[in-house]
Amino acid sequence: MTPLDGALWLIRHGFAVSPCDHPELNRCAGLHKTCDGSRGKHPAVAFTRGWTLDERKVHETFGRGLRNPAVSVGACSGPGGVQLLVVDSDRPGAIEDVAGARGEQWSTTMRVWTAKGHHDYLWAPSSLKLGNGLGSLQGQFDGDVRAGNAYVIGPGALHATGVVYELEDPERPPVMAPSWLLRALLTKPQRPMRQSSYPRPESRSLQGLVKFVADSTQGQRNSRLFWAACRAAEADVDDAPAVLLDAAVHVGLAEAEARSTIASAFRTVGVSA
Ligand SMILES: [Zn+2]
Repeated sequence: MTPLDGALWLIRHGFAVSPCDHPELNRCAGLHKTCDGSRGKHPAVAFTRGWTLDERKVHETFGRGLRNPAVSVGACSGPGGVQLLVVDSDRPGAIEDVAGARGEQWSTTMRVWTAKGHHDYLWAPSSLKLGNGLGSLQGQFDGDVRAGNAYVIGPGALHATGVVYELEDPERPPVMAPSWLLRALLTKPQRPMRQSSYPRPESRSLQGLVKFVADSTQGQRNSRLFWAACRAAEADVDDAPAVLLDAAVHVGLAEAEARSTIASAFRTVGVSA
């Protein structure tokens, strides 16, 4: 499946599409000023407004194969006005494990296989205020959820590793999200640990950076970690990678993801972590 195939499939099934960077371009096509290096994922337009459902526009944008298709989640609505919710498992079966731990069975739904795991597409009542927050699944789920003001990389997109995002079954539409999941997402998250239990950093400035990471909410975690790691790399603080990694894991980032964010920050600044 090419980016164009994916984008066409999406709009024909009612999913609003917007373009992102493509890893084969020399430079990131993202709108941002500085690229964090995760190529192929950065929006090339304001995804909340720049989406389309128009076939001619999709041909224009994706025809040359140099943009990855993304789904503008908040712009999609299903039967009866339901809103889209995408559950992004960072490893195969992560959401099934969450369901299983609660004595539930995960229903088969529209699924897109990603480089690390899969995106499950679900409908949810439009009256619910869903966002990118994990609610009480915080710390229990290896992944993220996307709803409202959010986007996900779509089928046909090429990941920097060479993996193509693929629909598991092009004939399978999203099902309604189970109520246990919606209840969990709408429950206030419990802070996994109190701030006082963070390791006490040696230097004042590292302490400030740790607090900055520790105070991040869902959706900011990775970017705040990246920023803090850049500052730590510039200041050449001993033990900064290990201490920041700890803080990031405490706020719920997956260890592997946090590690690679820190390494990428140190590379950006030109130091090895
Ligand atoms: Zn970029």
